[in-house]
Amino acid sequence: MTFERFESALWQTASLLLVADGEAVAVDPCISSAEVALIAERARALGARVTHVLATHADWDHVCGIAAFPDAVAAMGEPTAELVASGAAGARVVERAAKYGIDVPGPPRVDRVLAVGRAHRIGPLTVEALALPGHTPDGTAYRIRQLDLLAVGDHLSAAEFPFASSTVDYRTTLAALIDLLRTDPPAHVVPGHGPMLRSEQALTIAEADLAYLDALREAVRAGGAEAGRAVPLPRPAPPDLAEMQAANVEAQVAELLQG
Ligand SMILES: [Zn+2]
Repeated sequence: MTFERFESALWQTASLLLVADGEAVAVDPCISSAEVALIAERARALGARVTHVLATHADWDHVCGIAAFPDAVAAMGEPTAELVASGAAGARVVERAAKYGIDVPGPPRVDRVLAVGRAHRIGPLTVEALALPGHTPDGTAYRIRQLDLLAVGDHLSAAEFPFASSTVDYRTTLAALIDLLRTDPPAHVVPGHGPMLRSEQALTIAEADLAYLDALREAVRAGGAEAGRAVPLPRPAPPDLAEMQAANVEAQVAELLQG
């Protein structure tokens, strides 16, 4: 029983191949057709058939590779399955791939809907599905205790800062992850972007990200959007992510207005 991590040239987006008993489970296989083909090839080299594909959330860069595995069962959390079944995720895959000029396997499908908050038998593995809203409303983490591994989707990235669709959801998710990393840590934490982490490294990132979101909330409460824009990011980030920082401020303003 083993696992391997793969990284796309775009945004250090991570894929996983989990292998046991001649079967393989691909998690977020991505992004370009050539990159996804390498994952499939690696499974073959290991003598394993890819029987399942898991998706952590419906963002295009995480579901664009499912189509490369037509014989596998495409499984995902309930809210992700809804976005895929509606065609919304597929439309985004087509649109983004064209925008970035990347050849991708195609729009995703869903074959099996996973209840979140429960463990599931996925091929040879037992996979716990944890709700992780924050980056998107549909985020699902997968914990595989047989491999001492937690895949967290687009949270806990050493290469990025939080991109929050809901700041209150994101803070709640980070608090839950911090508790998990302190009291029941997996050996390996695999974020959707950036390097794989040990649990202590993941905890450091989670605490820094929560401190950033706490500071953002406080700043917006006291000084509005302008004060929010002045809150420093938890780690250096590429300049082309300025619009994500602005989106966090907007999400924070919306949270306080609704509250
Ligand atoms: Zn992503």
